[in-house]
Formats: sequence, structure tokens, C-alpha cells
Amino acid sequence: MTARWLDGVATARDVRSELRTEVLELAGRGLVPGLGVLLVGDDPASRVYVRGKTRACDEVGVRHQTVQLPATATTADVAAAVRAFNADDGIDGILVQLPLPPQVDTAEILRLVDPHKDVDGFHPENVGLLVQKRPRFVPCTPAGVMDLLRREGIGIAAKRAVVLGRSDIVGKPMALLLLHADATVTLAHSRTPELAAVARQADLLVAAIGRPGLVRAEHVKPGAVVIDVGMNRIEDAAAARDLLDTERLAEFERKGSALVGDVHAPSVAPVATALTPVPGGVGPLTIAFLVRNTVRAAVLRRSPGLAPL
Ligand code: NAP
Repeated sequence: MTARWLDGVATARDVRSELRTEVLELAGRGLVPGLGVLLVGDDPASRVYVRGKTRACDEVGVRHQTVQLPATATTADVAAAVRAFNADDGIDGILVQLPLPPQVDTAEILRLVDPHKDVDGFHPENVGLLVQKRPRFVPCTPAGVMDLLRREGIGIAAKRAVVLGRSDIVGKPMALLLLHADATVTLAHSRTPELAAVARQADLLVAAIGRPGLVRAEHVKPGAVVIDVGMNRIEDAAAARDLLDTERLAEFERKGSALVGDVHAPSVAPVATALTPVPGGVGPLTIAFLVRNTVRAAVLRRSPGLAPL
């Protein structure tokens, strides 16, 4: 058996194209959604992510405005920028690019974002709504995974799902969405004993742990669907030789680094039925769903009675 690759690039293109049609319709009614981006400090990865997100906004026809603050910004400085976006009627969605510098209280900042503009779905009110299966904004990465599974015709109901990683951003909301879609869900983490045996129970395995190539054949039940959320930059040549195919290894040797997932694809692909690549799997969907949530925020703010997604 060799796994079918689930193409996140093509799926994200489809999502953006559908959004483009919706945004054109909204524009005809005088409504142009707007995203406010808050970027604090000079983390190069954060800059790349923000560039990807604003580029997707451009493609779809969503306005965006980025406010940049220095790495020395205080919680009060960041809070003031969030409050300005909250008060700006032209801004429908607010993206606070994480991580914030260590001196900034991230939880307090995320609580300050107007829950009706919280397109990342991190505000406690939106987390609560998700827990109650009345989602307003679903965090973008797990929302993208669910959409990919739906479009690929991969059923979830009555399946055994295991999510590796329990972060607020990926693991927990992922587990909730799978539960709400009638899977039997196990949420595993760094303190889970016998991780491979637990993971091997899964018909659907989602890896979101931030450990390059940790998930190997022994973690995967033959025939399982494996979703690799991990995005890890490796610079170690031995790790690269272990994880990359010949073509990507040549690229690694040119650049000195490579992006890899949490799944050791060379050993897992022969065991799984379907697998997302890294790059080109979940990442592009995360970006497309941020734009989708922004369009939804624009509609919801003007039509608060609209049924949830
Ligand atoms: P995180 O906040 O660091 O959480 C990692 C989780 O993995 C924690 O729950 C941790 O357990 C668990 N974990 C760590 N090592 C483990 C191990 N050896 N065995 C079992 N569990 C382990 O990370 P995150 O923000 O969820 O991100 C996870 C990965 O997804 C990262 O590579 C990140 O870059 C990537 N990511 C990708 C996208 C995308 O768009 N594709 C979006 C977001 C994140 P404890 O709770 O016990 O510490």
C-alpha cells in the first residue's frame, strides 16, 4: 500500500476561489471585508506567515491593514493597538500574529480582541461556543483539516480518531471538531504513556506536536488516514537525510534548512491510505480559512442572526 497524498495547495486554491466569488457578491452590496493584522517584533517566521495571509487576502479581495510594533512593545502598547482595531468599523477581523514577545501577556491580549472580530477563534467566548457545538469562529488550522477531509470524501463518523498534541490552537479544537463529527476521540500529549500504541488505534491520526518526524510506521494502523499538522524547520543534515527524499535533500543542501512535518513520511506512506505532505498540506488551508473567517466576520457583523457554519 502507498498512501494517497492529500493536496492542501489545490484544496486551498478551491477555497480561495469560492471566497473570491462570495466577496465579489458582497462588494456588489457595498461590503468589502477588512482584516487588521498586528505584528509585534521581528520574528522572520511570523513575517513569512503574515505575508502569506495578506497575499491570500489580496487574491480573494479582502482589504488588509498591518500594524507593526517593535519587539520591545509592552502589553499596554499591544492592547492599545487591539483596541484601535476593535473600534475601527472598517476592520471585520483581527489577527494577532503569535508568538508575542515574552514580556507581553498573550492571554490578556487575546481576551481583549472583540469576539465578533476574533477570526482566529482564540477568544474565550468563541472557545466556549465551539465547545458547545455552536461555533462562531473555528480556529483556522483544525477548520482547514475538517474541510480537507470533507472534500476528500474521508468519513469521520464512527471512526476512531487520535489527535497528538493538546494546544489551544490546534490539538484541543481539532479534537472537539472530530468529536462533534461523531468520531471517538483520544487526545494524546507528551505525558501519554505508550504513545505509539495509542496512536496505532486510530483510523484517523492527526499529528500536531512540533517534533520533526516523530510519527513513524509503528504509530500508524495499516490503512489509517494521517494528517500532518507539524511545521518544523530543520537544519541538521542527519535529520534531513532521514526525512527528505532525494529532490528535497538537494534543496536542503542548497538552502541549509528544510520544512518538515511531525510525520516521518518515508516510513508512514507505505502503511497509511492517505497522508498530507509538508509543505503543501495543512499549511495553505490554515491561511485560506483565516480569510474565510474574515469574510464570515464581515457578514456576521452586519447580519448577526445568520446561522452558524
Ligand atoms: P505546541 O503549542 O507546542 O503544542 C505541542 C503539543 O504537542 C503539546 O500538547 C505537547 O504536549 C505535545 N507534544 C510535544 N512533544 C510530544 C511528544 N514527544 N509526544 C507526544 N506529545 C508531544 O504546538 P502547536 O502550536 O499545537 O503546533 C504543533 C505543530 O503544528 C508545530 O510544528 C507547529 O509549527 C505546527 N502548526 C502548523 C500549522 C499549520 O498551519 N500547518 C498551524 C499551527 C501549528 P504537552 O501539552 O504535554 O506539552
